[in-house]
Amino acid sequence: PTFTRFAAGRSPAGFVRVRGARTHNLKDVDVDVPRDALVVFTGVSGSGKSSLAFGTLYAEAQRRYLESVAPYARRLFHQLSVPEVDSIDGLPPAVALQQQRGTPTTRSSVGSVTTLSNLLRMLYSRAGDYPRGQPLLYAESFSPNTPEGACPNCHGLGRVYDATEASMVPDDALSLREKAIAAWPGAWQGQNLRDIVTALGIDIDAPWRDLPKKDRDWLLFTDEQPQVPVYPHQSLDEVKRAQKRKEPHDYLGTFTSARRYVQETFAKSESPLMKRRVAPFLVSTDCRTCRGKRLRPEALAVTFAGRDITDLSREPLERLAAIFRPFADATSPGRKKRDAEHPEQGEVTRRIAQDMSARLGVLLDLGLGYLTLERSTPTLSPGELQRLRLATQVRSNLFGVVYVLDEPSAGLHPADTEALLRALDRLKAAGNSLFVVEHDLEVIRRADWIVDVGPAAGEHGGRVLYSGPPDGLRTVEESRTRPFLFPGQAANWREPRNPKGWLRLAGGTRNNLRDLDAAFPLGVLTAVTGVSGSGKSSLVSQALVELVAGHLGQPAPPEDDGEELEHAPASPVGGRIVSGMEAVKRLVVVDQRPIGRTPRSNLATYTGLFDHVRKLFAGTKAARARKYDAGRFSFNVAKGRCETCTGEGFVMVELLFLPSVYSPCPACHGTRYNAKTLEIEYRGKNIANVLGMTVDAAWEFLANEPHAHRSLGVLRDVGLGYLRLGQAATELSGGEAQRIKLATELQRAERGTTLYVLDEPTTGLHPADVERLMFQLEGLVGAGNTVVVVEHDMRVVSGSDWVIDVGPGAGDEGGRVVATGVPRDVARATGSRTAPYLARLRG
Ligand code: ADP
Ligand code: ADP
Ligand code: ZN
Ligand code: ZN
Repeated sequence: PTFTRFAAGRSPAGFVRVRGARTHNLKDVDVDVPRDALVVFTGVSGSGKSSLAFGTLYAEAQRRYLESVAPYARRLFHQLSVPEVDSIDGLPPAVALQQQRGTPTTRSSVGSVTTLSNLLRMLYSRAGDYPRGQPLLYAESFSPNTPEGACPNCHGLGRVYDATEASMVPDDALSLREKAIAAWPGAWQGQNLRDIVTALGIDIDAPWRDLPKKDRDWLLFTDEQPQVPVYPHQSLDEVKRAQKRKEPHDYLGTFTSARRYVQETFAKSESPLMKRRVAPFLVSTDCRTCRGKRLRPEALAVTFAGRDITDLSREPLERLAAIFRPFADATSPGRKKRDAEHPEQGEVTRRIAQDMSARLGVLLDLGLGYLTLERSTPTLSPGELQRLRLATQVRSNLFGVVYVLDEPSAGLHPADTEALLRALDRLKAAGNSLFVVEHDLEVIRRADWIVDVGPAAGEHGGRVLYSGPPDGLRTVEESRTRPFLFPGQAANWREPRNPKGWLRLAGGTRNNLRDLDAAFPLGVLTAVTGVSGSGKSSLVSQALVELVAGHLGQPAPPEDDGEELEHAPASPVGGRIVSGMEAVKRLVVVDQRPIGRTPRSNLATYTGLFDHVRKLFAGTKAARARKYDAGRFSFNVAKGRCETCTGEGFVMVELLFLPSVYSPCPACHGTRYNAKTLEIEYRGKNIANVLGMTVDAAWEFLANEPHAHRSLGVLRDVGLGYLRLGQAATELSGGEAQRIKLATELQRAERGTTLYVLDEPTTGLHPADVERLMFQLEGLVGAGNTVVVVEHDMRVVSGSDWVIDVGPGAGDEGGRVVATGVPRDVARATGSRTAPYLARLRG
């Protein structure tokens, strides 16, 4: 009743009609949304936006699509749950561009995701400059992932494990007698090698660094294995004399260089102990054959615009576009002559360059010009990855489909958001529909239509409060989105707190940061801003975190969990903390990494709440009578869990001609426990019932348990009241994982000496939830701690005490501190891309 069904002038035929949607928390929702329009789904976290957009609309489109394809092909798709809905009419086929939950499992790069690498290989194959006499190579020969292309020495990895002088000779002041070559074996074998070296005329009593380079290299790296007459345990002079007098030698010793010894031992030794001893001498270095470029020499000999294909893959997309432009519009110098000589090659070059330029144009529009084709996707943020996929779609020439997107503005500076909106407009202009779940007010304002879901989360949400053009939301009292979309008067700047001191970083060097000095105020809330790719994360999540961790002797959080060899390690952080460390005793990084990788970890286990709950169950009279301890109530422990599903709650069912599906375990009906365990109740609920509760419900249920009540209260405070205690870690979004970590930290918040670092904590948060988050951060600062956030939300930035704006642009055009000061001053800074957006917010 509170919403307009149809906008004036639009025929109902142009609508997708949903009747009786009940997926997750949706309350029998009826809604009509226009096609060929930008439709934005709004509402607080957990209100049901995704359940409607993804869980219902997209899932139904996918289900219909799967029904229309041959059964064998269905196996290729992930099984989606069938949405609970009475009917949906007018639904076009859908493409979902959802943010990755958890970490991507496949090994890919920007070039492969966008398919630009294929195009580039075609170009090198057909139109590259070949050395005289070299035959043309196939496109595959330019891929390090094929046998035709991979460098034979490193098998296309670009790096090899090798022993170096630094790794094998840790202290070059030592002599060979003092075991300068730490990699060589000890005991008899070591003595033998020293005797051989002496017999070869090398002084084993000279410090290593005083030996001639030629000798050092030979000792360490030679592949020769000469047999040498040995005079054991004699000095160099004695040996020389013996040799001159042609005295009979003891035996013939075989020399082995240190590298050869290490490599052979590592590759061939049967003894794990020996392997472990030599492993530390092998360090990962650039492959010497391909110099880290991963390709065969023949492929690297082919060039385009004077560069080999790997060099081009390492150029930022922005520069790549500039390189191709003259080829695309046929203004490249020397073209006429070449075209006359090789007309066919000229035509191929022009076509591929045009395609490249057009596709690169979209990527630049989406603010991704700072990426390189070579960059591996696990090092990208979920937002960057989603925009890459979006760019690929914009060029796909599909029309008549619905794109369903999940917070595409995540990770975007307001300046970048404008580019995103242009890309969405292009998709729409090509005849597509866009259904977008979004919190960013700029995107919401630009929508043709909004669907506001709520009013609150979980049980208290799940209704459509409004469906229509944005302006109509103005009168919908119940909406939590309304006050933010239609704010009253602009608020004044709040008075910033005074810092208690400064944490100064000097010479910061990482990614695009070059010798950067930055000062972070202590005891206040600092927002680090800048366009995407400007270097915020490099400065905060990498340089600051690693340097502070180093000072504290705390291990830095892992860079990422990918296999070590899969991508080259990031360059080490340069720089140091020059002052302020005396005020920092602890570092806490609250990031968006998953809190666990298996469905066995969940909200309750991660926060430690589950330990407490299990003790409550073990403490009941019935449990004590049966001697059930707390372990009995864990679904990871054999005695209490259901053995049919080993505590997973579901089993995989293989169906003939159909995708395998997960279905609730027939023995425990998804409860994860065996019947005996479930007999134990605490205040009328069994352990599975408690895991099924939302945080909100558990907070009420455990009101008499101060410890549990408090930690549940903190989860509510960060806007997670709608999550279920047993919600699997693998089903949580990055933003949810981050807020769970934050809540866990808030519970143990210590007084005054902790540095908290958060990278975009507002991701996935409705403006109403952002306010709650700010309140929490204020609490940490109030207790004297220091909080540094990387943030794009201008309300958070304007509400902080200090701003460090990084930029001005992305990649090489960023990496500097453009403006720094209290928000009011940064809003007036010239040359800052953040200033205008900040200024717009306050009076
Ligand atoms: P939003 O997108 O607005 O943040 P969701 O649609 O994700 O909200 O969630 C709405 C409600 O449905 C929440 O209470 C959430 O816990 C619940 N929910 C979400 N996904 C699932 C799921 N896979 N199974 C059961 N409940 C879910
Ligand atoms: P922001 O956080 O402001 O979006 P980043 O610090 O992530 O920016 O990136 C700054 C620059 O460093 C960009 O040019 C980016 O491509 C580059 N960069 C970031 N991470 C890596 C990495 N792991 N490997 C190579 N380059 C990187
Ligand atoms: Zn190689
Ligand atoms: Zn079971």
